[in-house]
Amino acid sequence: MKTYAYGFPKLGQKREFKMTVEGFWNNNFSQKEFVEGISNIQKDNVVIYQENIDVFPDGEVSFYDFMLDAAVLFGVYEPKDMNGYYELCRGAGALEMTKWFNTNYHYLVPDFHGFVNIPFKLNKEHVALKLKQGDFPQIIGPFTFLKLSKGIPNNSFRKIFLSLIDHYKIFIKDFKNIQIDEPAFVMDLNQQEVDLIKEGYQRLAGEAVTLMTYYGSVDFIQDLVSLPVAAIGLDLVRGKDNLDYLLKKGFPSDKVLIAGLVDGRNIWKTDIQAAVEELKKLSSKVKNLAVSNAAPLYHLPVSTSVEDQMDPRLKNCLAFAKEKLVEIRLIADGFEGKAAGPYVRIGDYGKNKDVQQRVSNLKEADFIKTVSLQERRRMHDLQLKLPLFPTTTIGSFPQTTEVRSKRSLFVKGALSVVDYREYVKGEIDKLIQFQEDLGLDVFVHGEYERTDMVEFFAQKLEGIATTQNGWIISYGTRAYRPPIIFGDVSRAKPMTVDEIQYAQSKTKKPVKGMLTGAVTILAWGFHREDMPISDVAYQISLALQDEILDYEKAGIKIVQVDEAAFREKAPIKRREWPAYFNWAVKSFNLATNTDPNTQIHTHMCYSEFGEIIGHISAMDFDVISLEASRSKGDIIGFFENIDFQRQIGLGVWDIHSPSVPAVGKMTDIVKRSLQKIPKENFWLNPDCGLKTRQWPEVKEALTNMVAAAQMLRR
Ligand code: GLN
Ligand code: ZN
Repeated sequence: MKTYAYGFPKLGQKREFKMTVEGFWNNNFSQKEFVEGISNIQKDNVVIYQENIDVFPDGEVSFYDFMLDAAVLFGVYEPKDMNGYYELCRGAGALEMTKWFNTNYHYLVPDFHGFVNIPFKLNKEHVALKLKQGDFPQIIGPFTFLKLSKGIPNNSFRKIFLSLIDHYKIFIKDFKNIQIDEPAFVMDLNQQEVDLIKEGYQRLAGEAVTLMTYYGSVDFIQDLVSLPVAAIGLDLVRGKDNLDYLLKKGFPSDKVLIAGLVDGRNIWKTDIQAAVEELKKLSSKVKNLAVSNAAPLYHLPVSTSVEDQMDPRLKNCLAFAKEKLVEIRLIADGFEGKAAGPYVRIGDYGKNKDVQQRVSNLKEADFIKTVSLQERRRMHDLQLKLPLFPTTTIGSFPQTTEVRSKRSLFVKGALSVVDYREYVKGEIDKLIQFQEDLGLDVFVHGEYERTDMVEFFAQKLEGIATTQNGWIISYGTRAYRPPIIFGDVSRAKPMTVDEIQYAQSKTKKPVKGMLTGAVTILAWGFHREDMPISDVAYQISLALQDEILDYEKAGIKIVQVDEAAFREKAPIKRREWPAYFNWAVKSFNLATNTDPNTQIHTHMCYSEFGEIIGHISAMDFDVISLEASRSKGDIIGFFENIDFQRQIGLGVWDIHSPSVPAVGKMTDIVKRSLQKIPKENFWLNPDCGLKTRQWPEVKEALTNMVAAAQMLRR
């Protein structure tokens, strides 16, 4: 039994990728040194694969994002050098960024506006593409690439796709083998799209293509397995329908089935014995078989081996990317007859009867507010007296080196609790004054005490563990450490009330209480799969509700519950949406079902809202802030077919790039939006938190934003 693996994290155990790229951005390395640094990461990964894996791509590492790489490779963009490439990632004209399927990875969205009549051209000499050209490179597939790009008119899709396929064909000729990833094959595709895929891939017949699908089952599997490729990878963990099909119908003997039996999306150990049994069943139906991971491994941290502070009982149940490679080997060995070790289950670890009881006692009424939106609006208007076009920010302010180093001293025990609190308070003081000086209307406390909007709460809540080094990339060089929800979740004591109350004591302007919602905590963390996800969500929501009740006692009038991941957590297949949105919406409404006098905000970023606007509307908040600046106001179209009654703040400043928008650019976004949204319901804000920005940009951009609001009011 051959082992196969792909998508090993490029970040590096010590976050070498981040250090190297950011070093280049800060001019610490020449382009040559920098490219060498990244090639070393690729080389290290090859060595890691080699320990357990027989076949793997050796050209996977992207300098920023694989979608951008394909766009550059086929001439959609023609950046000159590495600086030009990074311009497209983070310069003034940076591409839009959006969530990659239902993961927390964000990709750059190639934009075909204006491209439609220009032919593709192969540009494989670009430095940014060097690493994608080993003996066995990996590249995003033509269908997925176009399906997830924007600006392609429906009636040109076919022509563009076929032309692109021809360019893929030229490109792949140079290689002995190539892995082409088509995760979009697991989406809900129509017959026309399936026919087009068949027609297109026919043109690749004779090339040594390993076609990889993942993130679920492929509905057109019968057609898929007859495509003229050398090997096909299928997700058999999340794609149970794939497995059923194979066991019933088998698999053509002229190609290899790469059986994804090791979960690439979650950190729990694989039940090796069960996987071996599955593989045995498959082998009776499939002639050429290899065992692999079921999704790219970059959704996992590098290795558990460095987690020396984790409770061994938990650590024993976990497998990160490196350990998953070992598991793939163990399954292959098991298939060959070697006995598998015992399977360690998480079992009763972290269980709490009281928390379970509280959730099972919930009644429908707990999820429904008794005071209507309109009535609440009147209450809030009287109480808050905000001007037209109120201005606010999303929560965080720059996490400077000083803020980070104080926190790390505190974590290491080198700074006392008292001194650390004093320091945070000092920063809050400065921020309140800063917001007063700017003339913002609704203030925030700055989130200085938080590493990350999810990790912070994970550290405070019972039943959730955090890691020391479990980093994964969310976009570009930005990495975060997903928490691990291992047990029943509850709040031992107030988590954020001190800081918010302190900030409020320093100003007459309302300060927003700032929380991260249950769906986002779930989406950006790992969770158990042996209990209903809705129960986990309600447990978290009850903890948040307790927190909001404490805010209210402390005199806080506005509370924001961030649900940045509300869209991304939605299943890829529409048939699974009703069940998801049911618990997702309910969990938000449960958390925020407190005093109707409290104005409830929510924030979401980088979502395509069109299809889910109805579900968003079912979340009973008063104000929502959304991303809009990178998608240049396209978002407005989403509000066309719905009578959206709630207040909305469209991001007028794209904070994911260091460039500062002019007042006119901001007022333009608002004016376009006002065609669909009544001015009384409109707020001005950046499109996300300001944590990653520098103070000078923040000052300039927020000054412009307040000026824009004043101009609009006039
Ligand atoms: N309140 C958070 C912040 O400002 C929201 C961040 C996010 O949506 N990603 O940092
Ligand atoms: Zn955001």
